[in-house]
Amino acid sequence: MQALQLTKFKHPPDLREVDDPTPAPGEVLIRIGGAGACHSDLHLIHDFDESLVPFKLPFTLGHENAGWVEELGAGVTGLEVGQPVAVYGPWGCGTCKLCLEGRENYCTNQAQLPYAGGGLGRDGGMAPLLLVPSARLLVPLSDLNPVDAAPLTDAGLTPYSSIKRSLSLLVPGSTAVVIGAGGLGHMAIQLLDALTTTRIIAVDSNPDALRYALDAGAAHAFAPGPEAIMEIRSLTRGVGAELVLDIVGVNDTLAFAAAVIRPLGHLTLVGIGGGSFPFGFFTAPYGVSLATTYWGSLPELVEVLALAEAGKVRAEVVRYELADAAKAYDDLAAGRVRGRAVVVP
Ligand code: NAD
Ligand code: ZN
Ligand code: ZN
Repeated sequence: MQALQLTKFKHPPDLREVDDPTPAPGEVLIRIGGAGACHSDLHLIHDFDESLVPFKLPFTLGHENAGWVEELGAGVTGLEVGQPVAVYGPWGCGTCKLCLEGRENYCTNQAQLPYAGGGLGRDGGMAPLLLVPSARLLVPLSDLNPVDAAPLTDAGLTPYSSIKRSLSLLVPGSTAVVIGAGGLGHMAIQLLDALTTTRIIAVDSNPDALRYALDAGAAHAFAPGPEAIMEIRSLTRGVGAELVLDIVGVNDTLAFAAAVIRPLGHLTLVGIGGGSFPFGFFTAPYGVSLATTYWGSLPELVEVLALAEAGKVRAEVVRYELADAAKAYDDLAAGRVRGRAVVVP
């Protein structure tokens, strides 16, 4: 089969011929319905190397996957061939306490593993077939098409997990600021809208993304800069926002976040832009909680899929054929994707 593989760091991925995988005992082979192109893949391709990640090359890209069960390895029960499933993306050891809680994104044995998931050190979903190491990593779908489900496994799950942590702050009259209204951001806006009564403010440097953020449920949308800080401070009567999700994560967006967060607010860093923020007594309002976040838990994925099955959130999908998968990443890098680029092999 053909697969879009990362063969060298700091080098564009290649569409290559690889062997069809077959499931060993306990494994499940998935026929891919959709594989999302995440901005993290752009960081992986262009910014990362062997010194940062323990991944052995080559491997197939694509860590945001859904499809149909194609073949069950010996001993796998509870799934049927042809059944539609979403793939839980972070693959941990499966046996530590956090993995047993369904939080494989925070597996305490991750450092001993040469991968973080399919598409992250092991073969991912930018190919017709994906080998999943265990049925524990699959969530059955009912009405949702795998193409629409794929982005929910990361672009949906990651903001869902960070919003859920801050739900107690998002009471009526509160404000949430989403910086970066792309693949994750357009889902963050819809999730905030579906789960809370908070006023949603989007910030993005791309005017198309700002228009789209308003369609997705934001009450206001601003280009970043001092004027946007003044607008947000004025909208919140000088107090600031209860939650700021920085889904870009460069120095400028972190400084922006610190300028619009209110005392006791949550400033959550989602974006892997490589920026940093000085943590000191006077660098943010008193009582602000600063947190990074990585992906989400398996129970949270079940919840996001349930929200989508109920019609409360929907990933905006731009489809690409596998032959055009490299173009999906080029379009993502150039800011030409509205919502999520999904490769449909
Ligand atoms: P995307 O390209 O779809 O969206 C990024 C958006 O940010 C775009 O709309 C872009 O215009 C905007 N943007 C870029 N620079 C900006 C700036 N300086 N100020 C304001 N807006 C700016 O990307 P995505 O797939 O949504 O991913 C977003 C970030 O989240 C990436 O850094 C990605 O690696 C990261 N990510 C993190 C996790 C996690 O678990 N923490 C999971 C997935 C993705
Ligand atoms: Zn991702
Ligand atoms: Zn573990």
